[in-house]
Amino acid sequence: MSEIGKIHYLPERIKGLSELALNLWWRWDRDARKLLRSVDPPMWSATRHNPVAMLRAVEPSRLAQLARDPDFVAAYDQVMEDFRATAAGEGTWFREAYPDLSSARPVAYFCAEFGLHNSIPIYSGGLGVLAGDHCKAASDLGVPFIGVGLLYSRGYFDQKVNLDGWQENSDEVFDHRIMPLVRLAGPDGSYRITTLETSGRPVGIGAWRLDAGSVRLYLLDTDLPENHPEDRQLTYTLYGGGEEYRLKQEWILGVGGVRVLRALGVEPGAWHANEGHAAFMMVERLREELAAGTEWDEGVSRVRARTVFTTHTPVPAGHDIFSPDLVRSVTDGYHATMGVDEATFMKLGRHPGMDDGRFHMTASAIRLASHVNGVSKRHGEVTQELWKSMWPAREVTRVPIGSVTNGVHLGSWMSHHFMEILDDLWGPDWERTLRDEDEWEAFREVDDRRIWEKHRHLKKLLLRFCTEQARQRWKTLWKEAAHLVGAGTLLSSEPLTIGFARRFATYKRGALLLSDPDRLERLLTDLRRPVQLVFAGKAHPADDHGKRVLQQVYQATRDSRFEGRIAFVEDYDLHVAHRLVQGVDLWLNLPRVPKEASGTSGMKAALNCVPQLSTVDGWWAEGFTGGNGWAIPLSEGSPEEVDSHDLQALYELLEREVVPEYYDVDQDGLPRKWIRRMKESMVVAGRFFTTGRMVREYTTRYYASALQGRAEHDDRPVFADPVFLDQGATLATTGSES
Ligand SMILES: *Cc1c(COP(=O)(O)O)cnc(C)c1O
Repeated sequence: MSEIGKIHYLPERIKGLSELALNLWWRWDRDARKLLRSVDPPMWSATRHNPVAMLRAVEPSRLAQLARDPDFVAAYDQVMEDFRATAAGEGTWFREAYPDLSSARPVAYFCAEFGLHNSIPIYSGGLGVLAGDHCKAASDLGVPFIGVGLLYSRGYFDQKVNLDGWQENSDEVFDHRIMPLVRLAGPDGSYRITTLETSGRPVGIGAWRLDAGSVRLYLLDTDLPENHPEDRQLTYTLYGGGEEYRLKQEWILGVGGVRVLRALGVEPGAWHANEGHAAFMMVERLREELAAGTEWDEGVSRVRARTVFTTHTPVPAGHDIFSPDLVRSVTDGYHATMGVDEATFMKLGRHPGMDDGRFHMTASAIRLASHVNGVSKRHGEVTQELWKSMWPAREVTRVPIGSVTNGVHLGSWMSHHFMEILDDLWGPDWERTLRDEDEWEAFREVDDRRIWEKHRHLKKLLLRFCTEQARQRWKTLWKEAAHLVGAGTLLSSEPLTIGFARRFATYKRGALLLSDPDRLERLLTDLRRPVQLVFAGKAHPADDHGKRVLQQVYQATRDSRFEGRIAFVEDYDLHVAHRLVQGVDLWLNLPRVPKEASGTSGMKAALNCVPQLSTVDGWWAEGFTGGNGWAIPLSEGSPEEVDSHDLQALYELLEREVVPEYYDVDQDGLPRKWIRRMKESMVVAGRFFTTGRMVREYTTRYYASALQGRAEHDDRPVFADPVFLDQGATLATTGSES
């Protein structure tokens, strides 16, 4: 752990601060966060809550003073004690529920991105944030768990929007020294931990460790001096290059990930591929089985039994498919090391409905995992339908693809202002002890005024954040004053404020509300009941359609007829997301049904008493109760017809229900009906839409069996789907399924 030296000097009495700063646990432990912040509050803000950067910058005299301050030292001792207990997994749910598995080998969770903290920009959006929240909850619950990903040394792009509203990317190399990363050395003491072959040459792979409570992440890195200059860049950017770059990254993640764990002596008992990007992890384990002399069928069975695969989107563009030539050149003779011919290797990635020889990552993952799931009830059903041809002998409802509905990490997303209310209800330890979901009902009895005041405070913090963000960018980036209006400096704290923040993918319909400008103008500029909109989000760097939607939003922010009541907050990341979901009055979500597998930002809002207005898609299909927001009724027809129906329905709900209810204030100045809806939002989200519930579900439904090597279903030959029937496989063993 020589990298701890990255924090230069700490007095002996409080030297544990460096350990604390190097484990992201502080991010969701309130006492730890408070302690770190109190070291130097202005520096804490200036570093965007980055304790490693703060501890490097703080004056030694300040540290010496803290080491002598009895209050600080007492708080420090308590936090360090809690920290040690967490690292040891003491008193956790998993230990109680699975005493026999407690000393078991961990679940290894592979994902192309992890969103744990804004200081480590190795995520682009929902998938990464979910993966980060999954790790945090696994730590809370004491599930033996490790993460495997890539360390993108240039991160995901930083967003700058030019005056025409066109998104420009800027990549800044990030500074490892201010990140909680520890570089790992391989068995021979060098930074090259393992190697793999791609495109005719070996690539050395290094790794960094990132700790989140008791969970360790291993982040792979090819930027080693001995590597070919092109290969050094393979882990530079997330979703950066073209197809070949991406395939190589997935090759490194899957094959390299397994090899790095082996080299470090980590022996997982179960393997979870979060999205198809990680599917090569299964292929590499199959190769290991075959190399050890296991027969093909038996090898496949063994891999399947210990593998969980989660698919995250029904949108075709969300699934990677690679041409045979590309796969051939990147995997470079790998099939021979498996002892199979190239055709067999390629068949692992055959999509049953696309007989074009391409390698489909999701198809290969479904073939090699026995535990497969979607991320909401509706998405589970959509996924069964999409992949039913893999089980030709089964009815669609019996296709063995389940669902575990996504959640968000409560400790990371709920404002501490609301946590204080829960402390009063259940005592300060509720985050650890609360098990019974019905207890959330008690939240409905909380005094309305208290809820409203907490919310008003958070709303003011959001407005202040917009102004501060504008100030910083005005100083460093912007040349034109028009930027300031677009950034939300004209927003005020009274109007109903609606938030919309997510990736600008066209199916999410970020500009739907703007497509009737006259009606929008009436909505926003009503003299007595004005409305404000706050937008944020990035478009995928290669998605010009998405960029055009963003541009439309951006231009609206500067259109004077809307009186400065539309804002766009640049560079959406975890930090911006926190401010937004906690500070707006209503969360808006408008995916074209059924394209949103789950969606999670609305859950984050709900955990802060912010109701949602949404189409009935993803989590809203099971989360909407009638009392926690509004739903746009389902409609049918062409995409244009659906858009026009949804636009009408959206305005009708806003004009007839949402705005009147928000402004319906009693003699105490409180919108009682609205507050009831706020409470219901919190109760519904707290009971069910958290990663605490989600990881418990993954554990009881999948991890527990996978850790014991028990397949959920293993009743088909690996090539049982129709495309292979003419190639000699038979359906014989699937006959018993129906
Ligand atoms: C939660 C989150 C997302 C995902 O939001 P969706 O509603 O699922 O689209 C994307 N980006 C960031 C930074 C987030 O925090």
